[in-house]
Amino acid sequence: MPIYEYECPNHGIFEMYMLLSDFDRTWIYCPESYCAAACERVHSLCNVQPDTMWAGHNTAQGYFTSKSEYNKLLKEKNLETLTSRSDIENVRKNVAKAKAAKKEKQLNNLTKHLTNELKDVTIDPDGNTLKETNKYVRARNKPTE
Ligand SMILES: [Zn+2]
Repeated sequence: MPIYEYECPNHGIFEMYMLLSDFDRTWIYCPESYCAAACERVHSLCNVQPDTMWAGHNTAQGYFTSKSEYNKLLKEKNLETLTSRSDIENVRKNVAKAKAAKKEKQLNNLTKHLTNELKDVTIDPDGNTLKETNKYVRARNKPTE
């Protein structure tokens, strides 16, 4: 049974054992005899959840000293914090897949480009170009006036 604190205007703050189902009872009648004033629940220190970022946290989004500020920014940027291990693994897998696909595409583009650039160049077994018809070579060999 949780203990809640209530404040009587005549008797001050007192503690009461309440049922867990009474969590949303924000006021009760004063239990003292001949009082019966309405007593509002007060939040004792142990009921108040501390801000988990109060000491300051460096995050990927910057430095934060308030969890609510941090959550606000995440919402603004449409980001979410992954908490389940399988979600994190899935994101990592997808990132790795995307990186591999990008690398393969770049390699294909490079191969296509080089094949096109070097199509007229004959390379001997020693790696020397025999027929310098590559456009860069042509430009280099252009006689100067
Ligand atoms: Zn009272």
